[in-house]
Amino acid sequence: MPTLSFFPQRVDLSTSLRYLLGASFLLLWLLAPACSPIDEPSHEHHHAHPPDSDLAVSRHELINCTESQATGYRQGTAFPITVVHIDGKPVEKKTANAYAVMRDAAARAGITLRVISGFRTMSEQQYLYNCYRNCNCNNCNLAARPGYSNHQSGHALDLNTSASGVYNWLAANAGRFGFQRTVPSEPWHWEWWGGGPGGGPCGSCVRRCDGSHIIDEKCGRGDCAVFGARCVNDNLGVRCVSVFCPNQGTKQVCLNDKIIGSCKDGGISTGDCSAFGSRCVSDNLGARCVFVFCPDQGKKNVCLSDREIGQCDNGKLGKGDCGAFGAYCSIAGVSSARCVSVFCVANPLEIPKKHSVCLPNGDIGHCDTNGGITVKKCASGKSCQNSPTPRCIGASKPRGFLDSVSCDGIKGWAQDPDEPKKSINVHLYFRGPAGDPDARGLSITADQHRADLCTQLGSCTHGFQIEPPYSLFNRREHPIHAYGIDSEGGENTQLSSSPRTFLCAPPILEGVKRPLIEEETFETWEFSVFWDLIPAPDQALTHLAEGTPLAKKPRIVRADDGTPEIWLIDGYLRRHIPSQKAFSAWHFKNADVEKWPAQQLYAFLEGTPLRPRPMLVEDSQGQTYLIDDPQPQLPTGTEPPSSPEMPEPRAEEEPPPIEEDESAEPDAASLPEIEFVTEPTTEILNIESGKEPQPHTRPPQGCECQQAPIAPLPLLLLFALIRLRRKRRPN
Ligand SMILES: [Zn+2]
Repeated sequence: MPTLSFFPQRVDLSTSLRYLLGASFLLLWLLAPACSPIDEPSHEHHHAHPPDSDLAVSRHELINCTESQATGYRQGTAFPITVVHIDGKPVEKKTANAYAVMRDAAARAGITLRVISGFRTMSEQQYLYNCYRNCNCNNCNLAARPGYSNHQSGHALDLNTSASGVYNWLAANAGRFGFQRTVPSEPWHWEWWGGGPGGGPCGSCVRRCDGSHIIDEKCGRGDCAVFGARCVNDNLGVRCVSVFCPNQGTKQVCLNDKIIGSCKDGGISTGDCSAFGSRCVSDNLGARCVFVFCPDQGKKNVCLSDREIGQCDNGKLGKGDCGAFGAYCSIAGVSSARCVSVFCVANPLEIPKKHSVCLPNGDIGHCDTNGGITVKKCASGKSCQNSPTPRCIGASKPRGFLDSVSCDGIKGWAQDPDEPKKSINVHLYFRGPAGDPDARGLSITADQHRADLCTQLGSCTHGFQIEPPYSLFNRREHPIHAYGIDSEGGENTQLSSSPRTFLCAPPILEGVKRPLIEEETFETWEFSVFWDLIPAPDQALTHLAEGTPLAKKPRIVRADDGTPEIWLIDGYLRRHIPSQKAFSAWHFKNADVEKWPAQQLYAFLEGTPLRPRPMLVEDSQGQTYLIDDPQPQLPTGTEPPSSPEMPEPRAEEEPPPIEEDESAEPDAASLPEIEFVTEPTTEILNIESGKEPQPHTRPPQGCECQQAPIAPLPLLLLFALIRLRRKRRPN
């Protein structure tokens, strides 16, 4: 009995989002340094751990790499120039680096180089030029015009060539470091225009913040503000921190209603919630993508389509596929969506209700009000069929035979091979087949023991036999249709050799005719125009002696001494009811049987046994008679016995068992019980529509006759009118 469960697979939206966020996170980190403008070519010189100072000072004491901006000149044209200091003298930065490398090499050879004059400002050159022109200062040394000295362009250095060994070392080695002598009269004047091994101490920076700018180790500058960030320098280092993020730690943030950001130590990566049909929501649960169909918070199921169901959990969406289980996603009648079996509703808009349904594979499904379905397999050899209501029934139809139809009885058998031991019902229809509005139906149980069936069917109690209705004893041919009723509510079938016809003449009337004096007598005895009334001409009655009128109401009694006989009190007579079959044929009810003191009962004179079935005749004057046997007379002078007061009907009391007729067949106890169907216009047996008469069941000991149906008063009145009319015009 498998019950379906849903939500087996969950798609975690946040997982896929994290992938996206991770990718853009990495991208941004790569992007940030690449965008930092680097002014300088890279240096070979490694200055890994500069002093903890804003300014980088060379480990060579006499080189101060602190940069300052000045105005240089080349061929009279001004340009910005960066200078540092060597030996206290300003030197253009690149020239300084080249010189420092050369100086270190000279030092290893035992030669000490010093800068006498490096970069000159315009005013310094002006002064020296004036000295040269006026020969009143600076030894009247040659000096270039202001704006035209290579000391002003930053390329020239005057060195200490007067010191021992310096000039010779320079002459032999300076070329390797890119330095050349350019003024023949000045051995101290050396110029650098590029070349040499590279390196040098100046140009390395401490990574740091400068406002929103970040300055890297190579003194490159980048502006964090370009990325909507600020520059932060803390224990995690110098870096750009998004304005949406805290300096440290992780946090999810909404940048707007679509974009979600994931902060990590100030870095941010972004994802687009709207790409997943979501919006970015930031509340007490933090920032996250909330699926558009989900509430911001709480759990709720939603339908994403007719088959896809979404499970919202604080805006996060898990997906399930109802369709994979043959179910719809349905919101009908509920606030939170659910999977509803396609077998339980016609469409997703239908509110599921509790019912059973036949599945295409022949199993039966039980739908609950949640649209869930519990599937049960039908037993072997059976399958679910929808008519009249879904149930497991065998494939076999009832079978049977309408053996014979005569004035003495209608005989046959019926069995449902699906339940071969069970006695099934047979529906007999007079005057037409089932469904014919003129037809009159009768339901009986084919439960009589028949020895011939035992070997033939392997089960004995499938016979039926009843006497035909007296109203059809009119010398005309009447068809009888017999149907076997499927034991499991499946399709009914007409028995073999059905229909048969019978033609009966009214029997010769013998005995006495006992008038029904009062109008309601016919009703209180529950006589039937159809079953009990013989169509006989007046002359058939004339030779009969008239007996005592029939009592207005029958009294059925048994003694309280344990004797089994049931008696009809008929005036001063007690008359034995010879069998269960007769009891039923006379329309008596178990509930009507009174228990009398034995002495009181046996005070009644014993009359003849009651005839097996009532026979009534109506003459042309409209007088109805019961045809009965002559009865013994009360001896003259004898007082008629007294009857106890009529008891109130006691429906609750357990009806006494009916005695068995000793002389009857051994299976007399299982004679069919008869249900007298009311007027065709008010109650028609309709096999097709599944409407069946009340089935009769018999308790182990005797008969349990059917209680009178409790009908509304107007309906009872209608019945009474119809019966009265039919009584006057028997057919
Ligand atoms: Zn010079």
